[in-house]
Amino acid sequence: MKKRETIVIGVGGMGSAACVELARRGVSVLGIEQFRLGHDRGSSHGESRIIRKAYFEHPDYVPLLHRAYELWNKLEKDAGRNLFRPTGLVLSGPADGETIQGARLSAEQHGIELQNFTANEALKRFPGFVFPAEHDVAFEPGAGTLLVDDCVQAQIDEAVRLDATMIDNEKVVDWSSDGKTVRVRTTRNEYHANSLIVTAGAWANECLRSLGLPLKVVRKFVGWFHCQSANFHETHGCPTFYFEMPHGTFYGFPSFDGTTVKVAEHSGGEPIDDPATVDRESYPSDFVRLNSFLTTCLPEIDPDPVRHSVCLYTRTPDQHFVIDLHPEWKNVAFAAGFSGHGFKFCPVIGEVLADLIQQGQTSLPIEFLSRNRTALVGEL
Ligand SMILES: Cc1cc2nc3c(=O)[nH]c(=O)nc-3n(C[C@H](O)[C@H](O)[C@H](O)COP(=O)(O)OP(=O)(O)OC[C@H]3O[C@@H](n4cnc5c(N)ncnc54)[C@H](O)[C@@H]3O)c2cc1C
Repeated sequence: MKKRETIVIGVGGMGSAACVELARRGVSVLGIEQFRLGHDRGSSHGESRIIRKAYFEHPDYVPLLHRAYELWNKLEKDAGRNLFRPTGLVLSGPADGETIQGARLSAEQHGIELQNFTANEALKRFPGFVFPAEHDVAFEPGAGTLLVDDCVQAQIDEAVRLDATMIDNEKVVDWSSDGKTVRVRTTRNEYHANSLIVTAGAWANECLRSLGLPLKVVRKFVGWFHCQSANFHETHGCPTFYFEMPHGTFYGFPSFDGTTVKVAEHSGGEPIDDPATVDRESYPSDFVRLNSFLTTCLPEIDPDPVRHSVCLYTRTPDQHFVIDLHPEWKNVAFAAGFSGHGFKFCPVIGEVLADLIQQGQTSLPIEFLSRNRTALVGEL
């Protein structure tokens, strides 16, 4: 095989986005994926992902989100397919809690439309939901839902259309760099290139072992629940939702198929050692907390799941991503630790990684995501 300019290890959400961006720039790129392309064993599958701009995690993400919206839009046009559903997002939580306070801060600082309601007003505006009386409620009309599986497939198709090469069912077992070239060894072959991007998701610790990043992988259960009520149908204007409750944070989507809604817990998760052998069965203990949330806040929904999926979060200690150049090899860049909120950023992370590998820096504001930040260094 001819030598490529850049190799990307891991063709999930972030890796396929990096492949698109490099291919758009005319770089010959080779993406290597250990499973089949578009698989369901990592972090980028399961129908839907929330996208929003009033970012309660930190206002510094907002410039990246502006760019992510533009790039998703471009991908939709280039690929000729619908990837975004304009559902809006309703947030419910204590006025001084992380969610409401953080979303309002980002909205104020960056001029993002966020409509405020008391719990009582929200009951009328969003029928079917029961907002706890002590909660404030905020609605972001510009937020929505990304169709995650279609997004990943569109990125893969677009990269291939632009001449990227994708190899699947081949696991990278080792890589090395001398600063000018890289050698990547897989279960079947050896490949050479000028530069390397590592986007290995839950396998980042394995692929970036020498960096000793403080990443923890957790198993996340996602359920689909039967709903009779039209209140929860997308076609009736039901929004995507996120609740900060005393016992955890919970989110979900309107019904797109007219019979089920997807609901999950964002907080918590069972730590796992090996992402390859995670238990994908469903157990009653998986949905006890979800059950209680549904009974309290979405009582029209049957609280027993009709189907489920298991997905992986890769958490950093401060729940912020880590995106950087390798400290030793400037021809190696990586992005990891998306902590259960990274998908919406895929295309802008692809752009950042392409900048880092081509120019050694990026004009996009990612300093707060560096591997040298105190929260990460303190853990090493
Ligand atoms: C249940 C759930 C709900 C979520 N909800 C949201 C949401 O609403 N909004 C949002 O923005 N984000 C959300 N997220 C987070 C988001 O989906 C992730 O942050 C994002 O998908 C991570 O992408 P990734 O590319 O890092 O990982 P992945 O997509 O898993 O990609 C990593 C890839 O690398 C491959 N790989 C690893 N090691 C090797 C190797 N040695 N050789 C070859 N290939 C390798 C893996 O097989 C995998 O395909 C959610 C995540 C989960 C699990």
